[in-house]
Amino acid sequence: MAIELLTIGTELLLGFTVDSNAAEIGRALSGAGIRVTRKASVGDTGDAILAGVQEALGRTGAVLCTGGLGPTADDITKKVVADLYGWPLEFHDAIWQHLLERFARFGRKPAEKNRSQAEVPRGAVVLPNRWGTAPGLWFEGPPGLVILLPGVPSEMRGLLHHEVLPRLASRAGNTVIRSRALRTTGVPESTLAERITGIEEIVAPLSLAYLPGVMGVDLRLTAWNLPADEADQRLARGIGEIRARAAEWIYGEDDADLAAVVLDQARRRGWKIATAESCTGGGLGERLTNIPGSSDVFLGGVVAYDNAVKEGLLDVPPALFAEHGAVSEPVAAAMVRGITRRLRAELGISVTGIAGPGGGTPDKPVGLVYIGTAVKGTVTVTRSLFVGDRGEIRARAAQVALNRLRLAVEMGAGPAT
Ligand code: ATP
Repeated sequence: MAIELLTIGTELLLGFTVDSNAAEIGRALSGAGIRVTRKASVGDTGDAILAGVQEALGRTGAVLCTGGLGPTADDITKKVVADLYGWPLEFHDAIWQHLLERFARFGRKPAEKNRSQAEVPRGAVVLPNRWGTAPGLWFEGPPGLVILLPGVPSEMRGLLHHEVLPRLASRAGNTVIRSRALRTTGVPESTLAERITGIEEIVAPLSLAYLPGVMGVDLRLTAWNLPADEADQRLARGIGEIRARAAEWIYGEDDADLAAVVLDQARRRGWKIATAESCTGGGLGERLTNIPGSSDVFLGGVVAYDNAVKEGLLDVPPALFAEHGAVSEPVAAAMVRGITRRLRAELGISVTGIAGPGGGTPDKPVGLVYIGTAVKGTVTVTRSLFVGDRGEIRARAAQVALNRLRLAVEMGAGPAT
């Protein structure tokens, strides 16, 4: 079965709301074997909504819309679609009672405007909304299939999973669209492509997508419209093939977080981690503490932005600043030595660099970052030159720093106990 998505809301066109609904619905529908063939966004005007729905029905015969079901003047989706089907709106007391109860639970009374949310086009199926006030609606008739869901993501999600997917699944046939992704870091897309050259033919009919981002390059394998068993087997084989060829760059699958991988490595060995950060300004600590349970491994760190802090709290010898500058290999080494000694950690990471946009020189351009790692007293410093804006350079530096520590532990420290 194929369907189109239409997300409704002028704020989507203005760019103030990111269209996360379309992304989430796309993932959920394809996972259930329903092909999303097109998606579009339109503003809150009757003409735009009507044109969007009619065009989608003309092409595909089915469209799922979100947004514009609320009680305010710009929420006109229901009326527009009801007119298209020629179905008059009728007041449903059961929906109104549900609304009254919901408001009462929060100690409030609905406004007169809310009554419009209890109006249902005659002939439409009501999809009860336990997560909010406006029910979803299911229109099926000569124009085709139109599904309306609220725009609020939590309400859309509840209705999608509890009301829409079960109804669509019976029409999807017994095939699925299923993906698995491998996460790599520390390797450019082109080098990765060279290493796994020819893999597309081997994994066919699965498709392979390269998805580069600041965290690295994700490799996503997708099985299209295959029986679930076959999809799983082919995906497992494909993932195995790629792992065999590119193992050293792969740190996990799907939503894996490199910070969690590093914490696990340390936890298995009974080791602690400490950080000394300059240009990432706490970004490394943020990555590590974002992982639940990090407190048993991550001791803490120092954000040593000013040289006085590098000297006072990390024991960096002041002569190093005069001789090499704060962004240098010796300072990165001294920072990681200082933090691991002070906090008595087996593992340490230090970062010192120039995130820009100002502050670069021909010798030390914007994007230059030194990363120090310490594994049980063995200190290594690497030099990187990152591209991107300030935010990207800082994010890349934190990711690469975590990766350096991962590799240093793997290579230098022997097996986990
Ligand atoms: P309600 O019934 O609660 O009034 P609604 O169907 O009228 O919901 P909208 O008024 O269109 O929905 O949107 C409500 C809010 O939901 C928006 O302010 C926005 O924050 C969020 N939202 C709407 N559409 C999307 C979308 N496509 N992706 C992500 N968020 C969205």
